[in-house]
Amino acid sequence: MARLLLVEDEPALIRSLTPALKAEDWTVTARETGGEAMTFISQEGCDVVLLDLGLPDMDGKEVIARVREWSEVPIIVLSARHQEAEKIAALDLGADDFVNKPFAVGELMARLRAVMRGRERRFQSQSRFSVGPLAIDFLTRIVSIEGQEIHLTRREYDLVRTLARHVGLIVTHRQLAASVWGAGAAVEQQAIRVLVAQTRQKLEADPARPRLILTEQGLGYRLREPSD
Ligand code: CA
Repeated sequence: MARLLLVEDEPALIRSLTPALKAEDWTVTARETGGEAMTFISQEGCDVVLLDLGLPDMDGKEVIARVREWSEVPIIVLSARHQEAEKIAALDLGADDFVNKPFAVGELMARLRAVMRGRERRFQSQSRFSVGPLAIDFLTRIVSIEGQEIHLTRREYDLVRTLARHVGLIVTHRQLAASVWGAGAAVEQQAIRVLVAQTRQKLEADPARPRLILTEQGLGYRLREPSD
């Protein structure tokens, strides 16, 4: 059974979430403060962390920054719906994804499956990837739709490769800028939007209603999971 650490100071949420997670075969441990959570992660370890950003002893973002100094454990942030800046900061500090509070359990389970699959993929380091009609061979850099090779520019390819490496998970504008244009490059969001639009023209059956590269308004983009 996979071990999940729930870092949350609302007893009602811990009470409602724990049985739902256990029903999905997670072993759940709850901690109420950032300090206790970091101690648990360093001493016991776990497979994924569900992290509330508003904790009694410190900001959840500080927990992310500090844990990322020594651990790559997947972190999913529980955040308030309208706190866009908070979410971006958490993702840029190294959180893997977020779920808006109040959330549907089904959505949370989908995010958990996506981070666990991503973890497996990192360990397997497979050179081929596919989701729906899209296939990528990272070795030859050949991208195809329904078996038809699609010619992508270098930046379009880097965009698709980056999203594929995080399939099912959000990739922020800043992460995309760094991996497509290079770390430290000053990139306007408009340039990213243009690149995404061009790439959708080549990959999507209906670019106006994308089914592969999904927009996360104000935050970034997400490549659809096969199960979505
Ligand atoms: Ca809280």
